[in-house]
Amino acid sequence: MQELEERIQAEGTVKAGDVLKVDAFLNHQCDVRLFDHMGAAWAEHFAGKTITKILTIEASGIGIACCAARHFGDVPVVFAKKAQSINLDGDQYTTTVYSFTKQKEFPVIVSKKYLNPGDHVLLIDDFLANGKALRGLIELCEEAGATVEGIGIAVEKGFQGGGDQLRADGYDVDSLAIVESMDPETGKIEFRH
Ligand code: 5GP
Repeated sequence: MQELEERIQAEGTVKAGDVLKVDAFLNHQCDVRLFDHMGAAWAEHFAGKTITKILTIEASGIGIACCAARHFGDVPVVFAKKAQSINLDGDQYTTTVYSFTKQKEFPVIVSKKYLNPGDHVLLIDDFLANGKALRGLIELCEEAGATVEGIGIAVEKGFQGGGDQLRADGYDVDSLAIVESMDPETGKIEFRH
């Protein structure tokens, strides 16, 4: 998606440790017009699929998932929580995910009320690196007996391989920008097309 690539080139910064910082429009300040365009792009890609629910993970996935839902007939958006809370009552699907950015394991939790057998789920997230977060969400869908219809990603870091492994496993992954390489010294970012 050209608009997203241009924003990454103009406002993204490459940090050490393979981290791309896009706080100006995605991870801190949110550009909802851009989010809306991203939702439209996913709706075009997944047009042939029946989607009954969007599942994402807190926190940065929530905004883009909510904007995307407007393009999928206002289906409900469920976000997996990363910590137990007294607000999370009743039965839950849970798994554990290793965080690329925080470099530690955390729980991923969805109430059984909001993920059901018979749901046809579109997974959405801001970044795809090694694929751990998405594998966690896929596991929750499997536990629930829900079908994963596809995966919509804003920024995939292609050189980390998580996206290609998911594609090899048969998942339809639509990443709107795929970073092929990035250099923290020069700040140079190259995309896969
Ligand atoms: P994965 O689980 O695929 O290794 O990493 C994806 C998750 O880590 C995303 O949910 C995202 O929050 C975070 N993440 C991974 N790489 C980056 C990055 O370069 N920049 C930002 N802002 N988040 C990242």
